[in-house]
Amino acid sequence: MLDIEKIRKEFPVLDQQIHGRPLVYLDNAASSQKPLRVVRALEKYYTHDHANVHRGVHTLSQRATDQFEAVRRKAQAFVNAEHEHEIIFTRGVTEAINLVASSFGKAFIEEGDEVLVSELEHHSNIVPWQFMCDEWGAELKVIPVDDKGELIMDRFDELLSGQTRIVAVNHVSNTLGTVNPIEEIIAKAHKVGAAVLIDGAQSAPHIKIDVQELDADFYCVSSHKMYGPTGIGFLYGKEQWLNDMPPYHGGGEMIETVSFKGTTFNRLPFKFEAGTPNIADTIAFGEAMDFMHETGIEEIAHWETELHNYAVDKMMEIPGIQFIGTAEEKAGVVSFNVEGIHPYDIGTILDQQGIAVRTGHHCTQPLMERYGIPGTVRASFAVYNTKAEVDLFIEALKKAVSMLQ
Ligand code: PMP
Repeated sequence: MLDIEKIRKEFPVLDQQIHGRPLVYLDNAASSQKPLRVVRALEKYYTHDHANVHRGVHTLSQRATDQFEAVRRKAQAFVNAEHEHEIIFTRGVTEAINLVASSFGKAFIEEGDEVLVSELEHHSNIVPWQFMCDEWGAELKVIPVDDKGELIMDRFDELLSGQTRIVAVNHVSNTLGTVNPIEEIIAKAHKVGAAVLIDGAQSAPHIKIDVQELDADFYCVSSHKMYGPTGIGFLYGKEQWLNDMPPYHGGGEMIETVSFKGTTFNRLPFKFEAGTPNIADTIAFGEAMDFMHETGIEEIAHWETELHNYAVDKMMEIPGIQFIGTAEEKAGVVSFNVEGIHPYDIGTILDQQGIAVRTGHHCTQPLMERYGIPGTVRASFAVYNTKAEVDLFIEALKKAVSMLQ
């Protein structure tokens, strides 16, 4: 059993009033709050250890490098990658997907090839593939979802072919909370020789990931959804693919030798990490992974599911409530609308009562189009949320509905 009150003390940001009411932070799928140990790691780094990494012989540079590279090993363990050099630090999931779409595209995509995404992808797992397809004359195909928000796997079987070069889907949908059957997707894609990229932005905070067991070719993770800083994340890529892909950005760090006759590139992972990296946030991200590990990913997920089910049960009492996304397998996200009310209006009145939820299309406009709605209200849970907070949320929601209906 987790001691939630003790965990909350690690998150001082939660202890404040918004519009004269206690803050209830239910926007965790957009970005989670940070424990003190993460904030202190940043402070410690800048007050004691800062220097540029990798090239320095002096003590501070070596200290910064050791701490920075230790996080690569933490990330390796976090997703159970076979090799440390299969972890490439990026600014987050968006940059990780752009990296793959750009470099994989250059290496492997030709006219007439096909790329598969799903209808429930975040824009960051759609637009980079559109760029790639436009550049190389490939075609983007889309796996549809059903009314519950589950991928229609029969359609996936039909769309998958010898022309498919890469399949890109999220592990967990940020808008609906659907947990996608990625094991099946990976196994089937591999049968036709296609690679698979998994957008793990919403799964890494809740699900234990094992890229070797999954046999994922690429897996993308973002720190700011996992109690860590913004602007840092990583791409896991199988060694073979990464070796065969050209560099993404050019600059320092990613080279072996540079001359005007030609340049040779550094080995993995540095080939994909041009320029001075985000050293401080990487180190603090390591602290966030330690926090998750020590708290227990399964315990976190279990608590969030309990909060989710508790909220959904109570929300059923609200007249006109419509849940968007009712998949069998779901993570701690509840997306909804109330008949006749715009989601934005609900969000605004909830904010006036101290409740932070997200409203809008959640960067999934094609999914909104699929359901014929302008957006949803989304409440998403993290380990520090409590049932008392869910009660406040429900009370505030009932008030909003009675004012707007
Ligand atoms: N994919 C999904 C499913 C997401 O929820 C998000 C963040 N909203 C992203 C990608 C983008 O991730 P990042 O913020 O790390 O660029």
